[in-house]
Amino acid sequence: MVEMLKGIAASDGVAVAKAYLLVQPDLTFSKTTVEDTAAEASRLDDALAKSTEELQQIREKAAQSLGEAEAQVFDAHLMVLSDPEMVGQIKQNINDNSVNAESALKEVTDMYISMFEAMQDNAYMQERAADIRDVAKRILAHLLGVTLPNPSMINEEVVVVAHDLTPSDTAQLDRNFVKAFVTDIGGRTSHSAIMARSLEIPAIVGTKEITAKVKEGDMLAVNGIEGDVIVHPTDEQKAEFEKIGAEYAAQKAEWEKLKHAETVTADGKHFELAANIGTPKDLVGVHNNGGEAVGLYRTEFLYMDSPDFPTEDDQYEAYKAVLEGMEGKPVVVRTMDIGGDKELPYLQLPHEMNPFLGYRALRISLSEQGDEMFRTQMRALLRASVHGNLRIMFPMVATLKEFRGAKAIFEDEKQKLLNEGVEVSDTIQVGIMIEIPAAAVLADKFAKEVDFFSVGTNDLIQYTMAADRMNERVSYLYQPYNPSILRLIKNVIDAAHAEGKWAGMCGEMAGDQTAVPLLVGMGLDEFSMSATSILKTRSLMKRLDTTKMAELADRALKECDTMEEVVELVNEYVK
Ligand code: PEP
Ligand code: MG
Repeated sequence: MVEMLKGIAASDGVAVAKAYLLVQPDLTFSKTTVEDTAAEASRLDDALAKSTEELQQIREKAAQSLGEAEAQVFDAHLMVLSDPEMVGQIKQNINDNSVNAESALKEVTDMYISMFEAMQDNAYMQERAADIRDVAKRILAHLLGVTLPNPSMINEEVVVVAHDLTPSDTAQLDRNFVKAFVTDIGGRTSHSAIMARSLEIPAIVGTKEITAKVKEGDMLAVNGIEGDVIVHPTDEQKAEFEKIGAEYAAQKAEWEKLKHAETVTADGKHFELAANIGTPKDLVGVHNNGGEAVGLYRTEFLYMDSPDFPTEDDQYEAYKAVLEGMEGKPVVVRTMDIGGDKELPYLQLPHEMNPFLGYRALRISLSEQGDEMFRTQMRALLRASVHGNLRIMFPMVATLKEFRGAKAIFEDEKQKLLNEGVEVSDTIQVGIMIEIPAAAVLADKFAKEVDFFSVGTNDLIQYTMAADRMNERVSYLYQPYNPSILRLIKNVIDAAHAEGKWAGMCGEMAGDQTAVPLLVGMGLDEFSMSATSILKTRSLMKRLDTTKMAELADRALKECDTMEEVVELVNEYVK
């Protein structure tokens, strides 16, 4: 039966393909007594053999598509599977207690996991615990006769359907086969949505019920521009979606022509269009889309893609690659922003009620636990600074004291390197993200001490409206054009300009086609966005007149009471 679902349009594009369900199967079981313990041990052997074979295949595929370094994670899993001591203990448990293999497996692996997890400050042991948990799940699935989803093994064109996708799930999706993804939960600025845009995979998030409505192999038509999904589309609907897809492709081809053009408004004013990146590999997209700078390099992916803390040299190489790749154009590197929805298995973070309001980003960097990690990152950045035009940015700054603390560490590490005779650029700008309302309100004070601001609207909106950016139930409150948000942004831009500093924006709002006219009118200097939004923004800016946009912004700030009124006013000015 044809069924239509609506979600939040998270990444442009259209796709028609079969569903691939990326959902965790039910792994519950009961503990039972068995008579034939030998048969139970042989069930275990069978599950171990199947798990080994499966992991070897996944490892091979990961090495091909992601590289040898990423594939090594699976070597650790294979080692756990062949650990004679652990396997021996499970079998002994079956024998001694006449229990089923499932419960023997769980008892023994739980024991190992809690033993390793108890070694709080040993990152290696913490990782072993995570490996055992993963492997135990795989063996259990085979014992129960169910399959775990393996996104890296997808080898035909599909639409991935999931309750949610973590940034690491998203990173594993192969663009050649994954034509789109659709999730139950999430918002436009959740990190999986941001990654979908940079991978150019059409995506719809927050449908609330896609996993309940769709079965493996069901045909889906997905329109990521509008946020519409059709389950079992008719031939006519398929043709209609394909037509929308073709129109979108034609529009993209028009934008492509602006790849080497300057970003100028109708009255000849230049604005800088920069790109947000997560890894040096994303530079390809920056160049393909005519990015004039990197306005946000989210360095936490360097940490998340690595099985342990990346070394100073590893980081140096990554920063150098980006600085050199941009050939002297500005590169804003944000220091690590771990926490919230971005976790590190090897960094023991306390479990918190409100991780987005908790111990994250600069708060970790300035703590005793994060000091060494932060200093290592600073040294890598300072060493790389001679290879291009580096700007360093601190995330989640709430108070001037935090900024001063972070800046002092920057100065301290710089001095140490100079004393060691290491060359360091003396033109590195040091700025902050404005993503906490306290900093936006106090921007005049910050502006005296920082070199620049970059407004992080993804978080600024969630904190100002008290509406979780990942929660589709409150997504109606996620209002970039609400006059309250516009006032905060205007305050930040004016405060920067009063001190002769520049103000940019690296939240998703910078590439939002309704927001751009307002931001141009408010005098924002730099717009940093998913690389794939750059050309359409350049095309829009060509049509805008800055004097008229200043009038628009002024009227929106003075006359509008609601977001809806602002949208109406923008539509009046920009036809
Ligand atoms: C933001 O908060 O707007 C931002 C750019 O940072 P992130 O999306 O990584 O939190
Ligand atoms: Mg943020």
